[in-house]
Amino acid sequence: MTGKLDGKVAIITGASSGIGEATAFALAAEGAKVAIAARRTERLDALAKRIEASGGQALPIVTDITDEAQVNHLVQKTKVELGHVDILVNNAGIGVFGTIDTGNPADWRRAFDVNVLGVLYAIHAVLPLLKAQKSGHIVNISSVDGRIAQAGAGVYSATKWGVNALSEALRQEVSKDNIRVTIIEPGLVDTPFIDLISDPITKQLSEEQLKTITPLQSEDIARAIIYAVTQPEHVNVNEILIRSTTEDN
Ligand code: NDP
Repeated sequence: MTGKLDGKVAIITGASSGIGEATAFALAAEGAKVAIAARRTERLDALAKRIEASGGQALPIVTDITDEAQVNHLVQKTKVELGHVDILVNNAGIGVFGTIDTGNPADWRRAFDVNVLGVLYAIHAVLPLLKAQKSGHIVNISSVDGRIAQAGAGVYSATKWGVNALSEALRQEVSKDNIRVTIIEPGLVDTPFIDLISDPITKQLSEEQLKTITPLQSEDIARAIIYAVTQPEHVNVNEILIRSTTEDN
């Protein structure tokens, strides 16, 4: 690795698994100190050990992203322990699938709490720090479903369209503060996200698709994020849509 992020501090939410875990590792490998957040302590601790064994620095902070006070604590603790914050990767997210008529409103609320409000809490907490230092980069993990609505994915799509909308509004609001905003929109990525799908039809379709295509891996998404955050400071990569070459929808 090239140490392109030496001296930088990054917060990664949803770092206990999949894309967030790979991204935290990749950012640390480029020299960033990483604050890694999620609910599962033991998985965060294991990742911190792996990062430190590779010569990086990681600070696990147990955080439920749906709890605004915990998110504020995540940002403040990162600043106190690691000095400042330069990059926020809003990655924590859950899937909720199934047709709207068969859906459970409690699941919908949960999806909006994690995928939309969690992202907003983290942005709200970090912005005063980034504005004061007149630099920073916020990376929001959206989805192909944030650009294309499909039957059976309406609610999940709505959360990710929400992420795209708030990201573009934020970009316009903070450009004067020299703060960059990037949306990452992955297609199907082979992570535990698929195992956690509760809707049987979507789960079966995703599992079948995983077998018939060469799916993206978490590291592929991590590389896209590294690309965006290592551009020269005047370059704001706003959006990366990334699918498996063999994915046809
Ligand atoms: P995983 O299920 O592997 O990881 C999800 C992460 O989110 C976990 O680390 C989990 O940690 C965290 N998380 C969930 N709920 C909360 C919460 N309340 N508070 C804090 N952390 C939480 O999924 P992926 O890596 O695949 O997903 C990462 C992102 O990528 C999500 O935003 C997802 O929507 C998006 N995405 C995924 C795609 C895919 O095909 N896999 C495709 C397109 C987008 P913990 O349980 O420990 O709290």
